[in-house]
Order: sequence, then structure tokens, then C-alpha cells
Amino acid sequence: MSESSPGLIEPPAEIAFIGLGNMGQPMAARLIAAGFRVSGFDNTASVRERFQAETGGTAASSSEAAMSSAAAAVTMLPTGKIVRAVVDAMRPHLRSGAVIVDMSSSEPIATRKLGEELIAAGFAFVDAPVSGGVKRAIDGTLAIMAGGADATIDQVQPLLKAMGRSIFRTGPIGYGHAMKALNNYVSGAGLVAAVEALKVGRAFGLDPNVMVDVLNASTGRNNSTEVKLKQFVISETYASGFFLGLMAKDIRTADVLARELGIDVPLADKTADLWDQATGQLGAMADHTEIARFRSPG
Ligand code: NAD
Repeated sequence: MSESSPGLIEPPAEIAFIGLGNMGQPMAARLIAAGFRVSGFDNTASVRERFQAETGGTAASSSEAAMSSAAAAVTMLPTGKIVRAVVDAMRPHLRSGAVIVDMSSSEPIATRKLGEELIAAGFAFVDAPVSGGVKRAIDGTLAIMAGGADATIDQVQPLLKAMGRSIFRTGPIGYGHAMKALNNYVSGAGLVAAVEALKVGRAFGLDPNVMVDVLNASTGRNNSTEVKLKQFVISETYASGFFLGLMAKDIRTADVLARELGIDVPLADKTADLWDQATGQLGAMADHTEIARFRSPG
């Protein structure tokens, strides 16, 4: 497998950024702040308008228009299926040697296929999903898990550095997406464990705020006890900026991967079912911390 055009992509190179939602807009803003010229596209008009008004980037009229003279295209879209559709539409408009960087949380096996097709057609591809949420997207301190050829990751390193603090090379194409899904399985299972413990403790009479302080000083501490329970669950603000349906998708992705590899993962099976049921009950666009409001049927 050979890849073309190994030149470093650095400011003021032109970047197409597709998907300007909760994560995409602040990530694109970091690129702009680093000196890249960003042409952004989102299929929601109000999101495009907000991007142009708030970041100084240029809102394009389509993903194809965003791409016409860009050295790289970053996708930050809800699912791998949407990424595939967008990339297929953009492909005839891509500059030869352009790099596609899929930073969405997509499905690893489909990503591998997409990446191989793009490389065979003379483009380059990296999957580089992120973790850290909206706050760290704004700060430019995301964890980024890159999958792809070292030379391509080197090429887009200036972009990744503008958006993230820890940049991991996880292996070939698709490995970043596998890692991301597995991370969110661990994160989603940890959140459910934490909110269930809160419910039981409350029913017994424990003070939920004291519970969180104890957890955070004890072995039960996890990311949810540290940055979600008081902030979004106990306060009932449910405003983390990460949709329930997206978390359910990621946990299902991890569970499907396990099944495809023939690995027995009873907790992942149960966790994926639970998040899917919660999405059915609360809606895909509920905040993922609203999992605390889920009531299992029966
Ligand atoms: P979001 O729903 O806020 O943003 C997605 C954007 O994509 C929306 O603005 C939507 O209008 C746009 N879009 C959908 N289909 C499109 C299309 N065909 N063409 C152009 N634009 C289209 O979601 P988000 O929270 O920004 O998440 C984006 C990705 O990042 C997802 O894969 C998610 O799982 C992942 N992620 C989210 C977080 C988080 O905390 N929100 C953290 C890490 C990873």
C-alpha cells in the first residue's frame, strides 16, 4: 500500500472541516487560532451561520465546495455511515494527495475499508478520534488516538497538535476507532456504575455530594465521579454536550467488535443493551448524563 504527497500540512494551509456541532466548531476554532484557513461545512444552516459568526472561519455551501482547494479534510460527524456518505460525495472534488482525517467516533472495520479505498485512489487517510468532551475541545487539550501510516500522521501532526494535547499512535487504519469505542465502553459502563451507586446511596440516606467526595478519594473514582456526577447529574443540569445516542453508538460499536473477534464480553453486551434502551426511552439527543434518569422496563 503506498501513499502520496508526504508534505507537512501546516499553517496557513487550507483545511476543510465537515461537521461543526458540539465538538466540530470548537475543534475548527483551534485550527483557525493556529493559523490554518478553515472552510467549514455542516448540513444544518444555523450551525454554519454560528461557525462563521463565532470563529472567523468561512462557511462553505457544501462539503464539496469546502474541499475544492483544501490540503486536508477533517470530518467530525455523528457516525461512520455519515462519514462514508460525505467522503464519497467529496471524493471527486478532492485534490490529488489530499489527506482525509476522520476525527468522528466511527466503526473500525468500516473505517479500514474506507481508508484502504481512499489510499488506492491516491489520497491519504488517518482515523483520529478524540476524547475529552466539549471543554477540552475548546481548550485544545483533547486526547487523540490516531490510526494510519506514520508518514500520514506526521503530515497532519500540526493539525492534531492544534486540537489535542496527548496524541497517540495506535497502529494502522481503524485502530484509532477501535480504541475510541473501547474507551467509551469503559467510560459508559463507569458512568452507569456511578449513577446506580448514587441511587442506592440516596435511598439509604447518604448525602450524594458526600458520596462523590468519598468516591473521588477512594478506589471507586473514575472520570464520571470526577467530572460528571456533581457537575451534571446531582445538579440535574445534564449539560455535558455529548448526546446519549452517540454514547450508545460507541458502546454498541465496541460490543459488535468483540462479537466479530469472537471475544466473550458479558458486561459490554449488557451495557450496550442498557444504553440502547435508554436512547429509546429518553431520546438520542438527551445528554448522555441523563442515563441517570433511565428506568429499566419492568
Ligand atoms: P453533534 O451532533 O453536536 O455534531 C455533529 C454535526 O454534524 C451536527 O452539527 C450535524 O448537523 C452535522 N452533520 C450531520 N450529518 C451531516 C452531513 N451529512 N453533512 C454535514 N454535516 C452533517 O455531535 P458531536 O458531539 O459534535 O459529535 C461528533 C462526533 O464526535 C461523533 O462521532 C461523537 O461520537 C464524537 N465525540 C463527541 C464528543 C462529545 O463530547 N460531544 C466527544 C468525543 C467524540
